[in-house]
Amino acid sequence: MIKVDHLSKSYGTLKVLRDITTEIKKGEVVAIIGPSGTGKSTFLRCLNLLDTPTGGLISIDGQNILDPKTDVPKIRQKMNMVFQSFNLFSHLTVLENLTLAPVKLRGVSLEQAKTRGMELLRLVGLGEKAEQFPHELSGGQKQRVAIARCLAMEPEVILFDEPTSALDPTMVSEVLSVIRRLAKDGMTMAIVTHEMDFARDVASRIFYMDQGLIYEEGTPDQIFNNPQKELTRSFINRVKTCRYSIASADFDLYAMNGQIQVFCEKHAISAKTCGNLLLVSEEVLQLYKPLLSSRKLEVIVGYSEKTGQIELVFESDGHIGNVLEAEDLDDNLPLVLIRGYTDGIEFQHGESGDRLRLLVRKS
Ligand code: ADP
Ligand code: MG
Repeated sequence: MIKVDHLSKSYGTLKVLRDITTEIKKGEVVAIIGPSGTGKSTFLRCLNLLDTPTGGLISIDGQNILDPKTDVPKIRQKMNMVFQSFNLFSHLTVLENLTLAPVKLRGVSLEQAKTRGMELLRLVGLGEKAEQFPHELSGGQKQRVAIARCLAMEPEVILFDEPTSALDPTMVSEVLSVIRRLAKDGMTMAIVTHEMDFARDVASRIFYMDQGLIYEEGTPDQIFNNPQKELTRSFINRVKTCRYSIASADFDLYAMNGQIQVFCEKHAISAKTCGNLLLVSEEVLQLYKPLLSSRKLEVIVGYSEKTGQIELVFESDGHIGNVLEAEDLDDNLPLVLIRGYTDGIEFQHGESGDRLRLLVRKS
């Protein structure tokens, strides 16, 4: 139904979306998760034409919507959006909020619009509130009105941008329940959310967005129980990360160490532990040095606020092998050293690349 091809978006020199290619099929519920500032809202805004992409293609039902001849209001009606901040018209009653656009933009008679409006208000549990004004409603009620208003345009797809993040925690579930109901009824939806449990049970597919990309996608089971990439895993486990990409053997070690030190200070990791971390990373990189001319390597430092564990991960999208797997330990000085400063070493060889994970000793 929606097809996105090499979509990119920059603001000046800031590349927000780098290269997004994906498809959303009819009846699918896609939950979009990821750290803030990674372009989730921008992605939805591009789909809805609230932002103009810098490059790439978006088509809906085979129609290229980036064509200048596109009827933009029509596309927005087909693919309607619900915002974090409700955006209700404060001078109109709840029912008038629902009837305005259908009458003006879809040419529906006022009578019809009112009848349908009341149906939708009942659907979201707010039949009683039709004649009230938005300021008389709670946040959760306002958001349910916003959802009903969106439905009043008879959209084929609904885009939700963090629909519950402006709400008092006690009101989150009433809004999520309404969205769950729409999912059950087969509505096609893309939902940006920080509510992980909700994402896991409502979505048929999860997009993990990071670095301006759909960094990893899969079923909820794949993403939450068996993520293939380190950044996804860290995000799911709420591990804070610091990441450095190495693209050649002549990489800037000092800049990398500087970043790691700043990260340690920010998370109150002791200078001594930080020293261990830097030492281990330097030794491992020394061992990988012959590979660095031909392979890209990501160095990721992870700090779990929950367990206090500090991990050092080397990840590549190709085969790098386990450099810490030596036969005679006694002769291998770097290895002895690395073992002395770590509490665990794990190597994974996966479909999408290799990953070496070390648990750094704290001191
Ligand atoms: P997310 O929704 O994942 O938190 P956004 O899509 O809101 O991320 O923003 C991604 C990046 O784009 C951020 O760095 C943000 O500051 C920047 N950005 C968003 N909108 C604009 C804009 N209109 N002008 C300039 N920069 C913007
Ligand atoms: Mg956002």
